[in-house]
Amino acid sequence: MDFAPSPRAADLTERTRAFIRDVVEPVEGEYLRDLAEQRRTGDPWRPLPVIEELKAEARARGLWNLWLPKEHAGEYAARFGTDGGEGLTNVDYAPIAEATGGSHLAPLVMNCNAPDTGNMEVLLRYGTDEQKAQWLEPLLAGEIRSAFTMTEPDVASSDATNMAATAVVHGDEVVVNGRKWWSTGVGHPDCRIAVFMGLRDTPENLEADPGIDRHHRHTMVLVPLDSPGVKIERLLPTMGMYDEPIGHGEVSFTDVRVPVGNILSGPGEAFAIAQGRLGPGRIHHCMRLIGLAEMALERACRRGLDRVAFGKPLANLGGNRERIADARIAIEQARLLVLHAAWKLDVGGPLNALSEVSQIKVAVPRMALEVIDFAMQIHGGGGLSDDHPLAGAWTNARALRLADGPDEVHQGVVARLELGKYGAKR
Ligand SMILES: Cc1cc2nc3c(=O)[nH]c(=O)nc-3n(C[C@H](O)[C@H](O)[C@H](O)COP(=O)(O)OP(=O)(O)OC[C@H]3O[C@@H](n4cnc5c(N)ncnc54)[C@H](O)[C@@H]3O)c2cc1C
Repeated sequence: MDFAPSPRAADLTERTRAFIRDVVEPVEGEYLRDLAEQRRTGDPWRPLPVIEELKAEARARGLWNLWLPKEHAGEYAARFGTDGGEGLTNVDYAPIAEATGGSHLAPLVMNCNAPDTGNMEVLLRYGTDEQKAQWLEPLLAGEIRSAFTMTEPDVASSDATNMAATAVVHGDEVVVNGRKWWSTGVGHPDCRIAVFMGLRDTPENLEADPGIDRHHRHTMVLVPLDSPGVKIERLLPTMGMYDEPIGHGEVSFTDVRVPVGNILSGPGEAFAIAQGRLGPGRIHHCMRLIGLAEMALERACRRGLDRVAFGKPLANLGGNRERIADARIAIEQARLLVLHAAWKLDVGGPLNALSEVSQIKVAVPRMALEVIDFAMQIHGGGGLSDDHPLAGAWTNARALRLADGPDEVHQGVVARLELGKYGAKR
């Protein structure tokens, strides 16, 4: 095992930290206040101008599209502003993702935020030249944004084979029908394209065709959001937070027609694509969560030293030192687990890291929730207010016990692989 970053990655990590410390953090507080004001008086979905300014600065510093994977980045890293002109391994990108995770704006302004990175990776790996020119290039340039529409309100979507929406080829068109929700990104005014996942035929026809197994029944297709028949029905709050300007939406698709050339890879290939898309994405999510937990622990320590009750700093009251120590231990354990998963992904691809990626997807949000909860507690009432970024951080970590699959599904993967070592069948 080798978790040491390359010299280039170490340099990019340092520069990312400096960019966040010197440029992003000084404006973040004002940004959040302005956003709150815009919620009261205007349109919070209209991104504040500071975002474009920060994007320009990140790009000028070469801290742009750093998520681009080494094996698939190709010419794009050089063309779209990644310093050094090539992609990074998962081990190399991990500390950079961690550095961005403690900041509200950094992933967005460095073009490294979900779900765009996952969607860009799909286009890189499976897109045709036409699809890349039309959608990947403006996404890499940060000119447009995207959504990934898989989850449906009417079926238990943690079992993706339940999906009922359809994407059926008729002649030279694909006809798309269904209702999706928790489609992250659709609130943004620049969100132009959805990666839509649906059954390749009607459920009745598929049931009548035993030749097509449950994992080859779904197709991924690119659906422009301005297509007739696409309607954003509502934007969903996550525990009261709308996550502007990205947002999460419920979207209906009614007889939407797109060219057959919008299919990714081929009819029935959606599961194979999803497998490739989610591995690196989960590493990114988990490393950002570790950055979030670090941010919470730092604030807990500062608060614990600065504020006094019963004649002592809060840190010295009733078990808080032990809680600080436990938080440090938990973060270090989680980081090593994620680096291990990243390394296994780098050396052997997604199938080599199935258990490890599911392990981190369970362990890291839980760890982050514990650490952030402690930080909220030591901040007293303030910890639950918007004066500190802790309540938002907790909500973010809580959502990641569901987004990209609930804990129980990932525990199921870990248990299946573990029991498989001893001969158990699925
Ligand atoms: C903030 C946020 C952002 C999201 N972004 C996106 C997005 O961009 N695109 C997208 O398509 N989806 C997105 N999702 C949706 C997310 O991926 C789903 O909510 C998740 O996959 C679970 O599906 P479900 O909600 O239908 O829950 P269900 O499938 O109804 O499951 C409910 C519960 O049942 C239990 N359960 C399920 N399976 C098992 C099992 N095998 N063993 C034991 N218990 C089980 C679990 O407790 C689970 O939480 C997002 C969700 C959130 C909260």
